Amino acid sequence: MARKRTIRDLALDGKRILLRVDFNVPLDALGAITDDGRIRAALPTIRHCLAQGASAIVMSHLGRPKGDPAKDAPFCMRRVADRLRELLAGPAVEVCDEVIGPTCERMARSLKPGQVLVLENLRFHPGEKKGDPAFARALASLADAYGNDAFGTCHRSDASMVAVPKEFPPESRAIGLLVERELEVLDSLLASPRRPLVAVLGGAKVSDKIGFVQALVARVDRLLIGGAMTYTFRLARGESVGSSLVEGNKLELARNILAQAGDKLTLPVDHQIAERPDSTAATKVATEIPPSWFGMDIGPATIAAYQKEIAAAGTVLWNGPMGKFEDEPFAQGTRAIALAMAASPAATIVGGGESAEAVHQFGLADRMTHVSTGGGAFLEYVEGKPFAALAIIPDA
Ligand code: ADP
Ligand code: MG
Repeated sequence: MARKRTIRDLALDGKRILLRVDFNVPLDALGAITDDGRIRAALPTIRHCLAQGASAIVMSHLGRPKGDPAKDAPFCMRRVADRLRELLAGPAVEVCDEVIGPTCERMARSLKPGQVLVLENLRFHPGEKKGDPAFARALASLADAYGNDAFGTCHRSDASMVAVPKEFPPESRAIGLLVERELEVLDSLLASPRRPLVAVLGGAKVSDKIGFVQALVARVDRLLIGGAMTYTFRLARGESVGSSLVEGNKLELARNILAQAGDKLTLPVDHQIAERPDSTAATKVATEIPPSWFGMDIGPATIAAYQKEIAAAGTVLWNGPMGKFEDEPFAQGTRAIALAMAASPAATIVGGGESAEAVHQFGLADRMTHVSTGGGAFLEYVEGKPFAALAIIPDA
């Protein structure tokens, strides 16, 4: 894809910029932030705008509010704004308790250069999901320019992603520095990967990722399978799966993928199996999965084989945990793959919600070439789907 206009191309001095960021951080049951990585990821863009003499109006969605103010309280942006203020350590950060409306307008008008205003959760307003033009106009009226730094939402056509930038003249629309970095890494991965290009693919279901898997089959030199999707492939080949998670209605699809991929594709040769799918159950390593046992992780021989492939790769693209890594007894495969990638001289790219979470949890994110902030957006971008949210930003 051609290079997009970035916030560096905007004249920002004395201007107000409306920044769509991804502050959709994980929250615990009480609404406290458990990982502020997404807030940190937006800091370079916000700091750049402030340093250029702009004020920033920052907007995001958070969680999946249901439209019931009593239940939706944990999804208010106040705590996110508090964390942003701590992280920015200096600039004034105010928070508005409206998404649009007179209070927003007054607070936006009184912003001074170097100050930040955080709007209330975009999904508190039904216009966001609907892409409502009147809602978009109200948001756009707050600022002089628009920046999209929400890579994790770029596959969506919500109002803040498409209808809002449409309200600005093209020369006042840009991507932020995080989106710029994501596009640089993914475009170069797709256009001219250092070979061999090895994809490691796991996670829960094949059916979540059909287009992604098919795109990989066409592009990669090797496709190493792990995770629960292993068992759907095994079942499709008539091999034992015991009581493992399988998608019984996706066997035809699995057979097609196996046929297309030929000997590029490798399935695990052994498995960490458990009597029950929970962390207290008895476990053992097996090549066949007896009835009533569950395949929970890749086994040691598979780990060794995959480590070798990763060490010899030019590029490694990884999506999907190798096992149910949230339970320590089943985390070995996922951890071993992450460590092998960290140690490999290959360019290493990780994408996907749980995959990125695993890499952060193991403390290995800094040792990867790139950990994408996109889950669904990462999968769809690699698949080659067009994004309206990016099409609306002019080329540089
Ligand atoms: P990502 O978000 O990285 O794209 P997915 O959403 O496809 O990954 O899948 C992640 C989930 O798959 C994890 O929560 C993990 O627990 C689960 N998983 C992986 N392997 C297994 C397995 N063998 N049995 C049960 N669950 C598994
Ligand atoms: Mg996921």
